[in-house]
Amino acid sequence: MASSYIRKIFFTTLGLNSSVLLNLNTPNFAQAISQSPSLSTTTNLSSSTPQLQPKNSNLEWFYSVAERVIRANGLDDHPWRFQITDEYHINAYADELNKIVIYKGLLDQIHGDDAALAFIISHELAHHTQRHSGQQEEAETSLQERLLKEAEAEYNNWIAQERRKSKTPILPATKDVIKQRIIIQKKQEFDRTMQALSRQHEFQADEIGYTYMIKAGYEINGGLRVLNLLSRLPSDYTEISSHPPTQQRINALKQVMNKYLWFALWMDGYERLKNNPQPLKLDLSEDGVSLRINSRFVSR
Ligand SMILES: [Zn+2]
Repeated sequence: MASSYIRKIFFTTLGLNSSVLLNLNTPNFAQAISQSPSLSTTTNLSSSTPQLQPKNSNLEWFYSVAERVIRANGLDDHPWRFQITDEYHINAYADELNKIVIYKGLLDQIHGDDAALAFIISHELAHHTQRHSGQQEEAETSLQERLLKEAEAEYNNWIAQERRKSKTPILPATKDVIKQRIIIQKKQEFDRTMQALSRQHEFQADEIGYTYMIKAGYEINGGLRVLNLLSRLPSDYTEISSHPPTQQRINALKQVMNKYLWFALWMDGYERLKNNPQPLKLDLSEDGVSLRINSRFVSR
């Protein structure tokens, strides 16, 4: 269903909710990958020093950071896909199954800041690992069923009440007005509930994402730098936004940073990286448009 697809895209984005997210430019990306000799499907980027064309340096950067975050958190028991889109937007999102999409504009704005990129990737990974998309669909279905039943019951109660008050038949126009009123009320309740769930998921993705990036050994303030960047965007927040106001996310992230013992997280990831030192391999995905970071079970 188109509306639920749009909703899914919205709530899993890093920052803004914008219809431009549905406008992907993927074939160019696939072409760039398949034509790049330095990003061939078997090249181990971490152990070689490929001569990258400038337009592909983002790919190598994204891969090296994502691969490390995935491995440091033991998320490498299945492949991940990622894709960089050509539009200059400041956003990223979790898409389809185990896929992360990031806009060139966002990479440009955090250029060279490994910890900021690690936070973005980690945030989107967390949306996937916490099943936010699935949870949202399940909540949507059960909420719709409940609200529909409630709406029917309220309408029938109203009819019964009116009949008790007077024997005069109720005018169809009056019935319609009451029906509309109940529907609007239920629709508002639906939107409020789904929005609250979506915002809760954003806070959770920030928190879990923070632990992922720390385990991968990145500098602790990367997430704050990303959120500060998002907070400067003019369309940062509206009442109907699927995302919490960025300032609230900044405050929440500061609390998260106090909640966790940085060193314990770091040690945990360090051990995992030490026990699994071989970088995960990179391929062109079977979808033909995204890159695939393979699981650790691919024979090397
Ligand atoms: Zn998000």
